[in-house]
Amino acid sequence: MDDVETARKEDPIDFALWKGAKPGEISWDAPFGPGRPGWHIECSVMSTKLLGDTIDIHGGGQDLEFPHHQNEIAQSEAKTGKTFVHYWMHNGFVTVGEDDQKMSKSLGNFVTVHDIIKTVDPMVLRFFMATTQYRKPIRYTEANLAAAATDLEHLRTARANLEFRQQGAAKGTDPQVVTAVADLKQRFITAMDDDINVANGLAVLYELVKLMNGYANADTVHAEAVALLLTTFDDWMQIFGVQTATTDELLDADVEQMIYDRDAARAAKDFATSDRIRDELTERGIILEDTAQGTRWRRA
Ligand SMILES: [Zn+2]
Repeated sequence: MDDVETARKEDPIDFALWKGAKPGEISWDAPFGPGRPGWHIECSVMSTKLLGDTIDIHGGGQDLEFPHHQNEIAQSEAKTGKTFVHYWMHNGFVTVGEDDQKMSKSLGNFVTVHDIIKTVDPMVLRFFMATTQYRKPIRYTEANLAAAATDLEHLRTARANLEFRQQGAAKGTDPQVVTAVADLKQRFITAMDDDINVANGLAVLYELVKLMNGYANADTVHAEAVALLLTTFDDWMQIFGVQTATTDELLDADVEQMIYDRDAARAAKDFATSDRIRDELTERGIILEDTAQGTRWRRA
């Protein structure tokens, strides 16, 4: 902020609503002189115009909390007389090195997701990032990533061992497992409802895994109890963005890719290939419909 601007302030903590035009800058006429909206007011105007006077959740990087978001509140509430935002969710940054330096393009200390997933399972990267509480810095180091990989491997092994017991499981359920899962579920929800307290949520997840491991080693298991443990585990892992259920169902992206390949084969008059792709899709429960606008698909 330059001295001229400071000198024109009534109070040192006043902030700019309107920036006076400087030569060569884009500007609009206004009763208080040509210029452009300040950065803070752009946000207030867009937010209240498109989302209404009050919004429920406003996110943003930690570094925007002050002054930007404070200023948004001041000017929006002065105008509307209403609460601007119910919940502010400020996320921490991905940091690197001993001194927790923010990973950023300008500092040149960054690695791209694209590069990381050349050598690291993308699910490990997700698990690593999702298991840090969102307001805290995510400390990116190879050691931390490796630790996340080991943790995820343990979780996957526990799941695989229990899933294996599905074969030969007795019919019916196990009241003890049902009660234990209901209790853990309640505690998991309580933990995650507390500003997404993933540390406590994970602690409950590990209790579930302990229960799973114990059950996987039981002499007799009941099919419904096994299924309950597996779906609960999968649901929670899904919350951490990690896919654990083994499925041979084609993902939408795979279907789209196969349709694209089939169209290319047809365009090249390679009907053997296009028919083969169509048959494979049919076999896997995908129904194709060729229309003038292109190929549409749905699941059978
Ligand atoms: Zn903003």
